[in-house]
Amino acid sequence: MSAGSLASGERSPSGLWRRTGNAVRGNPSRVRIPPSPPPRASGWTPIAALPVSGGLPQVVPLELATFRFPEPELAGRRGVVMGYAIRHRAGVVLLDTGFGFGSTWLEQRYHPETKHIGDALGEAGLSMDDVAAVVNCHLHIDHAGQNSAFPGVPIHVQPLEWEIAHTTEHTILEWIDFQGARYEQIGGDHDVADGIRIVATPGHTPGHQSVAVDTPGGMTLLVGQALYTVEEWEGRPDVLEGRSNAPDPDAYDRSHAKLRALEPARVHFGHDRRTWTRTPAG
Ligand SMILES: [Zn+2]
Ligand SMILES: [Zn+2]
Repeated sequence: MSAGSLASGERSPSGLWRRTGNAVRGNPSRVRIPPSPPPRASGWTPIAALPVSGGLPQVVPLELATFRFPEPELAGRRGVVMGYAIRHRAGVVLLDTGFGFGSTWLEQRYHPETKHIGDALGEAGLSMDDVAAVVNCHLHIDHAGQNSAFPGVPIHVQPLEWEIAHTTEHTILEWIDFQGARYEQIGGDHDVADGIRIVATPGHTPGHQSVAVDTPGGMTLLVGQALYTVEEWEGRPDVLEGRSNAPDPDAYDRSHAKLRALEPARVHFGHDRRTWTRTPAG
């Protein structure tokens, strides 16, 4: 899932998906340089400017897809792609849009079962029209594949992630660059709305970001793929850990430490259905 690392990732028994699953090597026609400079954040209006009342944001998990791991040691095991709807007074802030549709390469390699983002929202009692902003934790195809369902809606990405997506084999650009796309490139940590803060967490990709939400039960972190599983968050990495195949393991560790220092009450993951919850003693 990182640039140009498919070959090395394929030799790494457990790391293919985490590191290279989204590389588009072998399909170079999908990689192109945008014809014009990318949009900048100059017109960005934080939805925090809207009045907020009626309580704190709430996080609603959305199961967006499952896929089959291609590695021999995980043969037959299916992974999951999770998104999250953050219900906010100003509208829904959506973290990630899942796989897109129509890639034969993806179908043959990962056998995904993908929900339309509108159906996933609908199952949660929400609609596409409720979405006031989108956040992509990063621009790999399992997290940003249905961005085009949201023309005109601000989509928050780190500028570095945008740059890498447009200069290396990183994603399927046809799913990123679409008519009406409105990317808000803001680097580092920043608020998207009252109680919803983007936290830069490089490691899996250089422009990876997570989301911290002030919820009624305390801070909830949506870490995307900054950490792969509950076990990795707890410091007990198993076969699904993401660190060993991260392009920058040191950054991965620093992001882990940064997130832990926020002392969240709950943590949600991009590739784990389960939620880590702080124990009363801990
Ligand atoms: Zn990824
Ligand atoms: Zn992923």
